Amino acid sequence: MKLIILDRDGVINQDSAAFVKSPDEWVALPGSLAAIARLSQAGYTVVVASNQSGLARGLFDMATLNAIHAKLHREVAQAGGMVDAIFLCPHGPDDGCACRKPLPGMYYDIAHRYDTNLAGVPSVGDSLRDLQAAAAAGCSPWLVLTGNGAKTRQGELPPGTRIANDLSAVADTLLQDA
Ligand SMILES: [Mg+2]
Ligand SMILES: [Zn+2]
Repeated sequence: MKLIILDRDGVINQDSAAFVKSPDEWVALPGSLAAIARLSQAGYTVVVASNQSGLARGLFDMATLNAIHAKLHREVAQAGGMVDAIFLCPHGPDDGCACRKPLPGMYYDIAHRYDTNLAGVPSVGDSLRDLQAAAAAGCSPWLVLTGNGAKTRQGELPPGTRIANDLSAVADTLLQDA
C-alpha cells in the first residue's frame, strides 16, 4: 500500500496559537484539500496524526473535535479526496503518554492498523516534533513551510528531512517521483 501521514494544524488547516476549538475555527490552507485529493486519486491512503492537547486542557471536548473532523472529512470529500483515518493524542504535555509527538506512539498505532511497515512512508509536518516522531518511526520526514514551518526550518532537523513550501508541493514531488 501507499501510505502518507499528515499532521493536521499548519499542514492541512491554519494553525492557531489559541488552538482550533470549533468547526468554524478550522479553516483549510490554500491548496491543501486539492493536494489530498490528488494523493487519494493517485492511490495514497491518507492518514492524519495530530496532537490535540486542547482536549486535556479542557479547551474543547471530544464531541466538538468530532465535529471539527466531520468538517475536515466533508471538505476533503468535496475536493475529491479522502482522509482514511485521524489518529490523535488527547493528552497534555505532562501526562506521560506514549502518543504525543515527538514520541512515535501514534505512528506505531498506524503501522498496526494498516499492518504495514512505515519505512520510507512520507510523513508531513510543520513542527519539529512532527519530524522527530516521523523519524523515530522510520518514516521519511517532510517539513512544510506553512504553519510553524518557516520557524521550524531555522532549527536543526532530523537527517533526511525534505522541505516543501506546502502540502501541494509535497504532492507535486511525490506524484512526480511515482
Ligand atoms: Mg502542526
Ligand atoms: Zn497521548
